[in-house]
Amino acid sequence: MSEKKPEPLQRPVAQKKCPVCGHSSYSIDGIHPQCHRAQADKTRLAKHAAEVRANPPEPDASAKKTGFNGAIRFGT
Ligand SMILES: [Zn+2]
Repeated sequence: MSEKKPEPLQRPVAQKKCPVCGHSSYSIDGIHPQCHRAQADKTRLAKHAAEVRANPPEPDASAKKTGFNGAIRFGT
């Protein structure tokens, strides 16, 4: 009972918190890869949406206007 537990050689290092989701992350940068992708996609999609709004694509004249559309429901 008089024995003491040995002291740990390394002090526990505080886990890095992901700046996006707030959970602990084991990656080098401290950010989850999926959170990093979501963060990058957010800015990329916003930039793309702004570009499309500035120059809206012209409707395709060669697009087929006839044909069966199964999504259309009759009645009701
Ligand atoms: Zn995260």
